[in-house]
Amino acid sequence: MRAIVVERLGPPEVLEVREVPVPQPGPGEVRLKVETVGINFADVLAVAGEYLTRTRVPYTPGMEFAGTVDALGEGVRGVQVGQKVTSLGGRGGLAEYAVSPAAALIPVPEHFTAAQAAAFPVSYFTAYHGLKTLGHGQEGEWVLVQAAAGALGTASIQLAKALGMNVVAMASTEEKLEIARQLGADVTLLQDDPDRVQKVREAAGGKGVPLILEVVGGKRFQESLDMAANRGRIIVIGNASREQANMRPVELMKRNLTVTGLWLTSLMGDQEATRDAARALTSLVGSGRVTPQVGPTYPLAESARAFQDLLDRKTTGKVIIEP
Ligand code: NDP
Repeated sequence: MRAIVVERLGPPEVLEVREVPVPQPGPGEVRLKVETVGINFADVLAVAGEYLTRTRVPYTPGMEFAGTVDALGEGVRGVQVGQKVTSLGGRGGLAEYAVSPAAALIPVPEHFTAAQAAAFPVSYFTAYHGLKTLGHGQEGEWVLVQAAAGALGTASIQLAKALGMNVVAMASTEEKLEIARQLGADVTLLQDDPDRVQKVREAAGGKGVPLILEVVGGKRFQESLDMAANRGRIIVIGNASREQANMRPVELMKRNLTVTGLWLTSLMGDQEATRDAARALTSLVGSGRVTPQVGPTYPLAESARAFQDLLDRKTTGKVIIEP
């Protein structure tokens, strides 16, 4: 079968298409005929060797993919060959076939396209955990969503609005802000607006925002502290700037701020949090209030271009690759 293989870590150009053996599902695993793969910023960082965990090469990227169950490993129950599923926590998705733990499969809502199925798990579970599980967002509260037209950003706006929250959305271009407005953002601001700190504080009644989903990091992190309301909660979800932030803990004391880290991979091990998120998301998806925003779609052979476009901030919604 054809698969992307990374033999050395580096920029997206290290992604190469190779012929490799079809993987066999181990005990408790299933094999999928992959239709669509959702590409996350984490994939770009992992290939660059800059992710939270060490990337071992050679490997095939792709942690989020949708398709049809094609073979069952030993001991798998409750999953049928031929079933349409999406996987959160599988491996090697950028290939014609990939394996996933059966426990990591999520049934695909009937009205989702294959691309929407692959665009769903990472962004929506992360957004839910940021807004609710760790962020404790309440109806009527303001939340700041950065990189608002991206995969996580669009998911966060949709979920926040569906949960009755008010959204300040930030992004780098007017076109991206228009996407945020169409999804219901109440206030939109360019990331480089010279008065952004003051404008965010004013949007939330002059007091600053009580909840911030922080994905840019670097020197922008200090700004997030400045934009937060007293007793504000800043959920650190990403570091898209790839820069180090300087934070003096006394800054937190002055206004009773809380900074909480969120990593979906480790939260997936929390069965109660995962079950609660799944229940809430299933209900919102069923009510039609949550529709994954599909971005540009590329064939497997153009995976390097897909990764580069994501890195260059050229994409909106979830980047999809079709093996
Ligand atoms: P996106 O589709 O949001 O794409 C990344 C976006 O980051 C860009 O479009 C860009 O939006 C923004 N960005 C801001 N500064 C930079 C910069 N210096 N270089 C490049 N991009 C920049 O990707 P994802 O939805 O996959 O991820 C968004 C963020 O959330 C990432 O930081 C990612 O690591 C994090 N994340 C973390 C998870 C976790 O478990 N902790 C799970 C999922 C995502 P703009 O041009 O508008 O600024």
